[in-house]
Amino acid sequence: MRRETRVAVIGAGLGGTTAAALLQRAGFAVRLYEQAPAFERIGAGIHLSPNLMQVLRAVGVADRLERIGLHPDAFLSRAWDSGEVLFRLPLGEAGERRYGAPYINVHRGDLHAALASAVAPDSIAFGHRLAGIETRGDGCRLLFGNGATAEADIVIGADGVNSRVRELVLGVEKPRYTGHVAHRCIVPAAAVDPPPADCTKWWGPDRHLLIYYMTGRRDELYLVTSFPEPELTVAGAWAPCDADEFRAELAGFHPEVRRVAAAAGAVTKWPVFDREPVPVWSEGRLVLLGDACHPLRPYMAQGAAMAIEDAAVLARCLIEALASDPLAAFPRYARNRLERTNRVQRVSVANDFLRGPTDPAWVFDYDAWTVPLLD
Ligand code: FAD
Repeated sequence: MRRETRVAVIGAGLGGTTAAALLQRAGFAVRLYEQAPAFERIGAGIHLSPNLMQVLRAVGVADRLERIGLHPDAFLSRAWDSGEVLFRLPLGEAGERRYGAPYINVHRGDLHAALASAVAPDSIAFGHRLAGIETRGDGCRLLFGNGATAEADIVIGADGVNSRVRELVLGVEKPRYTGHVAHRCIVPAAAVDPPPADCTKWWGPDRHLLIYYMTGRRDELYLVTSFPEPELTVAGAWAPCDADEFRAELAGFHPEVRRVAAAAGAVTKWPVFDREPVPVWSEGRLVLLGDACHPLRPYMAQGAAMAIEDAAVLARCLIEALASDPLAAFPRYARNRLERTNRVQRVSVANDFLRGPTDPAWVFDYDAWTVPLLD
């Protein structure tokens, strides 16, 4: 495969920007097409586990995030009502020694901005929502909602949970509502006295919530829940939620949780979707990564990590396929990713990761940029 191969990446989210950055650095002609009009600071807190940090090192943006992120001393699991400590996973320097990279928490917007900074600015076309793809023997023609068209040799569908590229590869099938919603709010830390621990997951019988600081300054706390809500009541990705109603739902939770929620301003509610795993991630010149092929329940905090690991392994397979059949890179990429993403998907559904004594090495101790690849 020649390096001047034209690669179109659909979706400039976390996985798409990672793939674009790594492939551009290897000399591929990459263009990114993003439906949004510009990069936006969306979302809230996100965990950068050591396996994700290894890829950020390869992209060259790990140091910047390590400087601004929170380095939690530990991940604490506690009973939702009594506060009994169920498990304490040491992180900080001990975690970095154990897993080969730090575990940090940042704002998703800071992660996205760091990844975007590694992509050539003139290679991103904003306001381009992919509508369709015409594939021919020698390439693809991309059709966008704004009327624009573009040509590419291969297309990477990094367009998230409602992926259009996935529909073209696997057919139209809506993601599955899991019967759970995530409430999200950001809380000024100064308003919470005494200050909570760095990162705690509070486990209830049918619900849980997570509270952690989003930056090394420890000035903002992020509270995110998973509460059962059998009927889907939110039409889009999220909806505002009445903060007092939310606080009422926390009756019975430990006082530390209620103290944090008492200081919350705006609360939003996000329905959680996933899909059954599929064994096929590509078709001809089209290939999928991240939420487009395996959207995860967020209970292991590995959605972004799996998308970013996918991007690294796909880039390696494409780089190594230089002298051979370019399209052979796609099944090889899936062969190298399926077992791991399926396992993460299963454990995310079970929602017991780190609840009690757990060795997370199988998740954290993995470097997608250097792990030996199957042929
Ligand atoms: P995404 O990062 O979702 O990127 C997909 C991109 O494709 C988006 O930029 C989208 O605009 C674009 N796109 C979609 N359709 C088209 C189209 N037809 N044409 C062109 N572009 C298209 N996880 C956390 O742990 N904490 C968080 O705070 C958090 N916040 C999130 C906020 C948002 C708004 C989203 C979408 C996800 C969030 N997640 C969060 C989940 C986590 O970020 C995802 O698991 C991870 O981003 C998956 O990466 P991805 O590259 O597969 O998809």
